[in-house]
Amino acid sequence: MFKDATVAEINTIMEKAWKTFHVYRKFSLKQRAAFMRAIAAGLDNPPDELIPTVMRETNLPEARVRNEKTRTVFQLTSYADACERGEWLEARIDTANPERTPLPKPDIRKMLVPLGPVVVYGASNFPFAYSTAGGDTACALAAGCPVIVKAHPAHPETSDIVAKIILKAAAETGMPDGIFAHVHATSFEIGKALVMHPYTKAVGFTGSYTGGRALFDWANQRKEPIPVFSEMGSINPVFLLPGKLEQAAADIAKMYAGSITLGVGQFCTNPGLIIGIESAPLQEFITALGNEIRQIAPGTMLHPGIAKTYGEKKSTALAQEDVTTVAESATAPAANQGVPAIASASGKAFLNNPVLHQEVFGPYSLVIRCADEAELLKVTQHLEGQLTATLMATEQDMLGHDELVEAVKNICGRFILNSVPTGVEVCLAMHHGGPFPASTDSRFTSVGADGIKRFARPVAFQGWPDSLLPEELKNDNPLGIWRTVNNEVTKKSI
Ligand code: NAP
Repeated sequence: MFKDATVAEINTIMEKAWKTFHVYRKFSLKQRAAFMRAIAAGLDNPPDELIPTVMRETNLPEARVRNEKTRTVFQLTSYADACERGEWLEARIDTANPERTPLPKPDIRKMLVPLGPVVVYGASNFPFAYSTAGGDTACALAAGCPVIVKAHPAHPETSDIVAKIILKAAAETGMPDGIFAHVHATSFEIGKALVMHPYTKAVGFTGSYTGGRALFDWANQRKEPIPVFSEMGSINPVFLLPGKLEQAAADIAKMYAGSITLGVGQFCTNPGLIIGIESAPLQEFITALGNEIRQIAPGTMLHPGIAKTYGEKKSTALAQEDVTTVAESATAPAANQGVPAIASASGKAFLNNPVLHQEVFGPYSLVIRCADEAELLKVTQHLEGQLTATLMATEQDMLGHDELVEAVKNICGRFILNSVPTGVEVCLAMHHGGPFPASTDSRFTSVGADGIKRFARPVAFQGWPDSLLPEELKNDNPLGIWRTVNNEVTKKSI
């Protein structure tokens, strides 16, 4: 139904985006925010066909679709507010000191400026929040960058409807032609052409490791390499410390059965690995988790491809040496449904088998039984980078496991205590990212307004007269933004 863009069309789109960039980058923070709020308003009052289309294309239930829409509207409006507040610009001013000896100190003022056209690849499991008008698009527009979205082939109609909402908002708020483009590309060649185009200056991606890595490698093969912010899969380890497990094994099992199977396990924050030390409370936990999982019915997955991959990866994991199946859902699945499952393996088996470290995207989790504390630490030190890591621990547990706590902190982007990793709050303090392979750049977040910084770079202005400086850096602070002036954070004028 949807035609792939051609390379010639990509060239035209990118040339337009490049021209537009030089206009849009000069638009005020207020104008950018107005555009983003208009997109939010359009999404909040969408055409009637939007919700049924998303449900048909993704198999997601209505309540989840509506919640995700609300979250996406909130992302757009809260990032618009942050765009105007201007903290993300990281304005720093060090005023001159002509009297300094032996050399006078020059006036230097730094702020972030937009990178240029940004290509955004959305994920199938978040048709709104990480797709066409999702977090990456909102952040890039706030930073002052035109956006080119590659529609996810699993929800092309949804993507088309949202793209129309964005284009309407652009027209209503006087945005330059070329501020936003939307392309369909089922062939990797066209996706590659977008990443490789010389006018593409950054890429935002949410999806699998394979996809995110492919884009990252293409971008680094370019004559001019560009940043690729790939948010990829993660197994989100959960550590069950002895004191906590002793107190609440059955409660933790119930809570985790819910988290593992939430949304048929189709979240990048799904807890795919649970680690404890061999003991009676750990056995109690495993038994209780198995009992819970048997009672949870399979759910229809986003699309047949994801359901097939889940079935295959789960079978591969369960077939590994020393892996035992603890429990599977007792209900027989219908077509394209994911069957909840829990497996278990020893710490030694996990350490010796890289297959067990891979994400099984769906309602599945592997419980690792470590022989002792030393093995628990070793397992932790051998884990790859993760979006999240969780400790289920008492205060006493924490005090007695310094080294473990440090080792866990070293591998994750969000460190959770006594809760579940599913559910990512959209707020300024959030960090959604993590050391590779969770993301390609652990310094940046893809959730929360700090994500705007991904699409901007610093420029220091040295010796410029006030009249020629950007508004953000002028003496009287006409935008009223927070700035660091001579090492003091302030809104005061100079
Ligand atoms: P996906 O299969 O990687 O698809 C994402 C996009 O990348 C699609 O447009 C896809 O096009 C394209 N793509 C995939 N492989 C490619 C390759 N080798 N070369 C070029 N393009 C490629 O991911 P998904 O199925 O949508 O989402 C599920 C995955 O996303 C899970 O691993 C999940 O953990 C991860 N995820 C991560 C986050 C996060 O924030 N870190 C959030 C949500 C989901 P085609 O469909 O045409 O292949």
